[in-house]
Amino acid sequence: MAYAIAIDGPAGAGKSTIARILAKELGLIYVDTGALYRALGYYMLGQGIDPADEERIVPALEGLTVALTHQNGEQRVLVAGEDVTAHIRTPEISMAASRISAIPAVRAFLLQAQRDIAAVESVIMDGRDIGTTILPNARVKIFLTASSESRATRRYAELQEKGIHTTYEEVLSDMVKRDYEDSHRASSPLRQADDAILVDTSNDTLEQSVARLKAVVMDRLQQTEE
Ligand code: C5P
Repeated sequence: MAYAIAIDGPAGAGKSTIARILAKELGLIYVDTGALYRALGYYMLGQGIDPADEERIVPALEGLTVALTHQNGEQRVLVAGEDVTAHIRTPEISMAASRISAIPAVRAFLLQAQRDIAAVESVIMDGRDIGTTILPNARVKIFLTASSESRATRRYAELQEKGIHTTYEEVLSDMVKRDYEDSHRASSPLRQADDAILVDTSNDTLEQSVARLKAVVMDRLQQTEE
C-alpha cells in the first residue's frame, strides 16, 4: 500500500532540502508541490496575465495542463507541455506563486494532480496544505518551521549560490509578506494540521534538522504500522 508523509510549513524552513534527503533514505518519491504554483505563476506572467487577476486566470486554466514528472529522483514541472523547471526559482516567481495560490480555482485545479501522485506511489510531499487539505490521511504529518530571520538567512545564501542578485533585507521582507499572505488567504491557508507534529529548526544545522525529522518520521511510522 502506498503511504504518504506530509510536510507543511512557511517558506525557507528547510522543507524541500530535508524532504529530498529523507526521500532518498526511505526510498520514497519526493513531491515539491510549490513547483506547481510556481509553474502556473510563471506561465501566467508569460501570457501577460497578473497572477492576482482572478478574472483572467480562471479562463486561462481551461484546457491547460500542468504535470510533475520524476526522473532519477529529480522532479521536473511542465506547463502546457513546456519544461519550466529551470525558470521558477526566482524571487519574482516566488511572489507570483504566492499570489496565484490564493485563487480558489487555482487550488481546485491543482488538487487532483497532487492526490493522483500520492495514490500510486509512496511519497514525501511538501507544501502548505498537504496535511490539512490534500492528503488528510497522510500517515505522518509534520509542520516544519523556524524563525523568519533564520529562514531568510538560509534563503539568502541559497539565492547567492545560484547567482541571483538580492539583499538579505529584501529576502526577509519578501518572506514575511509571503508568510502573511499564505497564512491569511481564505482558501486552504498555511496552518498546522491538528494531528501534525511541530518541528522548529531555528537553532539546527541542516544535519541536525535532517536527523530530528528522520527520528520523528521513523517513530511515527512505527506507531502506525499495520
Ligand atoms: O514551497 P514554495 O516556496 O515553492 O511555494 C511557493 C508558493 O506556492 C508559496 O508561497 C505558496 O503561496 C504556494 N503554495 C501553496 N500550497 C502548496 C505549495 C505552495 O499555496 N501546497
